[in-house]
Amino acid sequence: MATSVEVTPKLDIETRLFINGEFVDSIDGGRIPVVNPHDGSVLCEISEAGTKDVDRAVAAARKAFPAWKKMLASERGRLIFKLADAIEADREYLSILETLDTGHPIRDTQNLDVARTVATFRYMAGIADKIDGRVVQVDPGFHNYVLREPVGVVGSIVPWNFPMMFVSWKLGPALAAGNCCVMKPAELTPLSALRIAKLSAEVGFPPGVINVVPGRGSTAGQHLAEHMGVDKIAFTGSTPVGRKIVQASSTNLKRVQLELGGKGANIVFDDAPIDAAVGGSAFAIFHNQGQACIAGSRLLLHEKIADQFLEKFLKLAKSIKQGNPLDPATEMGPLTSAGHRDKVLSYVDVAKQEGGNILTGGKAPANPDLAKGYYVEPTVVDAKPSDRVCQEEVFGPFVTVTRFKDEAEVMEIANGVVYGLGGGLWTNSLQRAHRVAAQIRSGMVWVNCYKRVSPGSPFGGVGESGYGRDMGVESIHDYTDAKSIFINYDAQIPPFYKRS
Ligand code: NAD
Repeated sequence: MATSVEVTPKLDIETRLFINGEFVDSIDGGRIPVVNPHDGSVLCEISEAGTKDVDRAVAAARKAFPAWKKMLASERGRLIFKLADAIEADREYLSILETLDTGHPIRDTQNLDVARTVATFRYMAGIADKIDGRVVQVDPGFHNYVLREPVGVVGSIVPWNFPMMFVSWKLGPALAAGNCCVMKPAELTPLSALRIAKLSAEVGFPPGVINVVPGRGSTAGQHLAEHMGVDKIAFTGSTPVGRKIVQASSTNLKRVQLELGGKGANIVFDDAPIDAAVGGSAFAIFHNQGQACIAGSRLLLHEKIADQFLEKFLKLAKSIKQGNPLDPATEMGPLTSAGHRDKVLSYVDVAKQEGGNILTGGKAPANPDLAKGYYVEPTVVDAKPSDRVCQEEVFGPFVTVTRFKDEAEVMEIANGVVYGLGGGLWTNSLQRAHRVAAQIRSGMVWVNCYKRVSPGSPFGGVGESGYGRDMGVESIHDYTDAKSIFINYDAQIPPFYKRS
């Protein structure tokens, strides 16, 4: 059986599972086709990890864990630095691979996805030997200190929207803190994780420390979440699947970290820098075809500037260049799967049924060159805060527009959803910036910008957007347990049961 395939542009793609430091076929021989969303063609078929493969990967990680935990922390950091260097050197290959697999425009995979993946691994490499505990003041005669110990074997389950970046968000802090990992990429987009696994072997990671098992959520993912040999699940994905993960984790009460859906409010006040807000709001929703948990998918416009803003915003939305994502001039590619394209378009009907106005878009582009791909035009819809399109995550190039009168009203609208991931505001008032940022119920807030992400800054949400944090030193806390150690340095006999 072929173990790798060639595609155009010429790429040698690894299609097997990565377990215990080597590429292997799945035990049950299952295969999953990987589709190019630009034209619906099958790029390759990968081995499908089944439950027995997950068992093998968990066993390999368990075996590798004691030595990896004991390794000098700076040595672990050195290996992660080497992986970051290898990814950077592989930039051209990885960006083309990610573009073919996901439909992200090549200019983004080159300049954002690869660059952010490298930056996150570097940040976490640097943190590896700075994970300190603390000394606590306790009763006289006793010394107490708290160690941060790795959790053990971490199962990482990730979605298809930023598959390469999520490898670094999940593996970076987990490895730095001394954990071993079994990663299950999304079945739609497994290729960059397999490539990074290959690079990890080349730079010298010990077998079993990193394992990659692409498989379906309902089988491989569910089995990993239930597994008795797994100490933590780090999950990024939808809120409904997040609920299943919590239930599955009850088998051994493993730790769970959840990065779930979002419905970001992007508020434009009447004192906003309008041109910056127009461009920033377009980036907030249309970058990556809107397939971002932190997308600014609810545009809330102060009634005084709404018409002026919308005129410019609609003009910009209509001018976004859609096309083959391998073309460096393309600004917006296809959605990542046909099923997801259909889901996004179904919300256009929902909006119409609820009395919403489609201000632009709402359909596939007319360009015949794009007819076979999963394209959707940038879509802007006038809607009321209670409408389903303002409450449910659409996860596409689909933004709702709602007008507001004052700060009190807009805060009620902004916080009137179950999600709490990211939100933003545009204003020239420093006081308002701080006041509103403090009131937005979310894990992240952006002022006069949107969707800023940095490896040192914690990423995550509140409410039904989940709990726990990717990145930042906060992520290290999520990948370690606190161990408290008491030493009796006066050699006193404890007062209880003292006989003389
Ligand atoms: P999804 O929840 O359908 O799938 C995510 C992952 O979970 C995939 O690997 C899938 O195979 C797996 N999975 C599915 N069922 C499972 C089960 N029963 N047990 C274990 N694993 C299972 O999400 P998706 O459609 O791939 O991605 C889109 C969602 O991800 C959106 O809701 C988006 O907001 C969210 N997301 C969140 C963040 C964040 O950091 N908060 C980032 C990106 C995406």
